[in-house]
Amino acid sequence: MISSSSPTQPKDLVVEVPESSAAEVAAAFEAARTAQKAWASGPAAARAAALAAAADAVAGAADELAELAVREVGKPLGEAKGEVARSVAILRYYAQQVFDPIGAVHEPSAQGLLFTRRRPLGVAGMITPWNFPLAIPLWKAAPAVVLKPAPEATACALRLAELVAPCLPDGLLAVVPGDADAGQAVVAAADVVSFTGSVAAGNAVAVAATKRGVAVQAEMGGQNPAIVLPDADLDAAARQVAAAAFGFAGQKCTATKRVVVVGDAEVAADFRGRLVAAAEAMVVGDPAEADVTVGPVIDEAARDRVVATAEDAVRSGGRVLTGGSAPDRDGWFVAPTLVEGVPADHTLACDEVFGPICLLQAAADLDEAIALANAVPHGLAAAVYTRDLATSLDAAQRLEAGLVKVNAPTSGVDFYLPFGGEKASSIGAREQGKAAQEFYTTTHTITVAPA
Ligand code: NAD
Repeated sequence: MISSSSPTQPKDLVVEVPESSAAEVAAAFEAARTAQKAWASGPAAARAAALAAAADAVAGAADELAELAVREVGKPLGEAKGEVARSVAILRYYAQQVFDPIGAVHEPSAQGLLFTRRRPLGVAGMITPWNFPLAIPLWKAAPAVVLKPAPEATACALRLAELVAPCLPDGLLAVVPGDADAGQAVVAAADVVSFTGSVAAGNAVAVAATKRGVAVQAEMGGQNPAIVLPDADLDAAARQVAAAAFGFAGQKCTATKRVVVVGDAEVAADFRGRLVAAAEAMVVGDPAEADVTVGPVIDEAARDRVVATAEDAVRSGGRVLTGGSAPDRDGWFVAPTLVEGVPADHTLACDEVFGPICLLQAAADLDEAIALANAVPHGLAAAVYTRDLATSLDAAQRLEAGLVKVNAPTSGVDFYLPFGGEKASSIGAREQGKAAQEFYTTTHTITVAPA
């Protein structure tokens, strides 16, 4: 069985459903394949209308979906409402993308007509994480889809499909609850695979898909740095870094995991004070309450990992500047935790710890800060805080990250632009925006010579 319970009230069982077998997953792909052929050869206007109707269905259930995300994954209510609004915008955007050009006409080398035309690769297998339980399934959802959600977000995926599937031909969108086994069954049956989740699972998915010779993209973890230069608006930088590190309990792939402060000891001490104050001003509590910005982490193991990492930081010679412990209350809560002074090979300096814990580092100048920022296997997002245009452009050029923000938090993405990371954070093509059309389709080059 796949069961999902609320991280705020662990006794609250949100859903329990049977895990999909490999045969059930394969059958879902067969049904989707049949539906996809008719869908792809039908009028573009009908596809646009169906996606617009799906957007209306999600918008009509906005409050209910936001409350479900709060309950199932502990997302603070304000962020959950934002995610639903984003999901509606994504559906409306793709409804219009249907009318984009799908090829180009070229001069023939001899006579006749020479053109390219994109056509869909087939039925996409989606394997998604729990932290954006509505927006990620939708931003990946090329219309013919079999979706394997994270077990922890099963109820969100099932409700989303109940709303969206009636707007589409029968079988075109299916949800197959399950975990790694069902995920591998999806990879075994899909025509194209899109994965979001951890580096370890993403690598396993990419290897399996590549062995079958199907296109795969894997968006994985981050260890995202924010560099703060002494000329920045330090108060604004501290507030933004705290929000990006601890909002939704640090459980975004783009959350800030390290802050590198450039300057002498005085600058470092000044920024440290502002950042600790900003972290302590974050409101921890029931994610259903409107002013709460830090809810629980997803489960007991995640909470224990944050606390154990903070304890290990101290054993390794580091200092906990704020947080470091779990409050004595129901639910998987842990205080926003800021650490400094760990050795360069400590987990906090190298690996993603998916929770509200962040490392403060110091650098003498921008070169040293960029070297520190880049000294991890990941390369998803990075931020730079400065008022100097030349410095910001220089840093943006040298940071090894798919997403670089200047005077803006590492977290947050624009759904109509290509999204993805560098190095260990991503495998394959970018997703979202126009990049999605390229990934889910293949180009045919067609020559028509005179008869
Ligand atoms: P996870 O890797 O544990 O699970 C992700 C999905 O993969 C789930 O549906 C899971 O059931 C499935 N899965 C696990 N092992 C598998 C296997 N061997 N074969 C096939 N499928 C498998 O990740 P999670 O805990 O759900 O999410 C948190 C992680 O996701 C973090 O590392 C976070 O950074 C990352 N993430 C990345 C992005 C991005 O766009 N780069 C966005 C959100 C989350």
